[in-house]
Amino acid sequence: MSTTRDVPVTKTREKPEQRSVLDIEAIRKDFPILRQEIHGNPLVYLDNAASAPKPQCVIDTISRFYAEDYSNIHRGVYELSQRATKAYEDTRVKVRRFINAKSENEIVFVRGTTEAINLVAYSFGQAYVKEGDEILITTMEHHSNIVPWQMLCKRTGADLRVAPIDKRGDLKLDELEKLMGPKTKLVAVAHVSNALGTVNPVKQIVAMAHRLDIPVLVDGAQAVPHAKVDVRDLGCDFYCFSGHKMYGPSGVGVLYGKEKLLDAMPPYQGGGDMISSVTFEKTTYNRLPYKFEAGTPNIAGVVGLGAAIDYLKDIGVDAVAEHEDELLVYGTKKLLEIPGLSIVGQARRKTSVLSFVHEAIHPHDIGTILDQEGIAVRTGHHCAQPVMEFFGVPATARASLAVFNDREDLDALAKGIGKVIEVFR
Ligand code: PMP
Repeated sequence: MSTTRDVPVTKTREKPEQRSVLDIEAIRKDFPILRQEIHGNPLVYLDNAASAPKPQCVIDTISRFYAEDYSNIHRGVYELSQRATKAYEDTRVKVRRFINAKSENEIVFVRGTTEAINLVAYSFGQAYVKEGDEILITTMEHHSNIVPWQMLCKRTGADLRVAPIDKRGDLKLDELEKLMGPKTKLVAVAHVSNALGTVNPVKQIVAMAHRLDIPVLVDGAQAVPHAKVDVRDLGCDFYCFSGHKMYGPSGVGVLYGKEKLLDAMPPYQGGGDMISSVTFEKTTYNRLPYKFEAGTPNIAGVVGLGAAIDYLKDIGVDAVAEHEDELLVYGTKKLLEIPGLSIVGQARRKTSVLSFVHEAIHPHDIGTILDQEGIAVRTGHHCAQPVMEFFGVPATARASLAVFNDREDLDALAKGIGKVIEVFR
C-alpha cells in the first residue's frame, strides 16, 4: 500500500502549487455537494474519514436504478427482478475483482464495517471460541473492532488481549507477536487507524499469525478508499469495509471471508434468502454467500457501491494514493508550523489523516470556529477512546483527506486555525 513516510520536509510556498498526478479541478466538479458555501465561505470538506461525499455518477446510478430497474432480487421471474438481480450480482463481481478475492462466494454484502465485524464475532465466535480462548486486538482499534469482541468474550468466557502502540502511533509488532499463542483464536487489526492514520503492516501480521494457524480479520474501513487492497496478497482471512467512506452510499459494506472459513461458520441472522428449505422441523441453509445475507438487502446501495468502485478504478487507486500522500506531507508541514499545535500520530507509515491538538484550545472550540470559516473537520474521540487515553488527550481535531482535496484546502485549514488562535489570544 502506498504511504507517506515520516514527517515531511518540503519548502514553504506562498501560493500552493498543485503537484498532483490527477486533474483535481475536474475531480472536484464530480462532487456536487462541494459546490456550496457554508456560513458565507466555500465549503472545505476535510471529514472524509467519517464519510466521503458522493460523486454525481454514484448519485445518478442510484437514482436511475430506482427509476428504471428497481424491484426485489433473487425472487422474481419477471424482467425487473432479473435486471435488479443482475445489477446487484454484477457489483459482487466488481467487489471481488476490486479486492482480488478468489470467488464471489467470499463477498458478503452487509451494512458496513461494523456489521461485518459483528457478523464474524458472532458467527466465527459461535463456531470456534470458548472459555479460556483469546481474541487479540490492538490499542489503536475503532470501537467497532473492540466492542463486538468484548461482547463475544462476555458470552463465551474468552479473554480480550490488546497489543500496545508506541508514542508515534506505530503498533509494537514484537509485543503483538508475543501475545499470539495457542489460546489465540483470532487476531483483529485495523489496516489504517482512523484516529492516527497509521498504516499497519498487515501482510507481516498475517504471516506471523498464520505461522501459529491463527486467522486474521482486517478492519479495512480506512484503507480501501486510499490504496489498492489485494486480499490474496495480504493473505488475511477476513477483510471488512464500508461503502460510504469510498464515495459509495451509506448502509452498505462488504465482508470478505475465505470460503473455507465462511463455509464452516453458522449463519448470523435467519430469514428470507439465506435458506434453501424450511419446515418447522428443520431448515437447511443457502450456499455462500447468501447464507449470510438474510432478508431484503440494501439493493440500491449495493448497486451504488458498484458505481463507486467504477469511479475509483477510473481515476486509478494508485493515483489517488499518490495524490493523498503528497497532500498529507504538505498538510503535516503546514500544521507543524503553527505555534502550540501538535500532531497526534506520526507513524512511520501513514495515510490521509491529520489528527491534531493545540496546547491551549479545546478541539471542540477549534472545530466550531473552523465551521464558521466553512471548514468541516471532525472533533472528538473518533470512536477510538483507548487511543485518546493512550495519548493523554480527551479528544483531537481531525482533518482527513479524499481525492478531491487539494493544497488550497489545507491552506484554508491552516489559515482557519490561525483565526482560532486569534480568537483565543
Ligand atoms: N473501523 C474504522 C477504522 C473506521 O474508521 C470506521 C468508521 N469510522 C469503522 C470501523 C466503522 O465503520 P462503519 O461506521 O461504516 O460501520
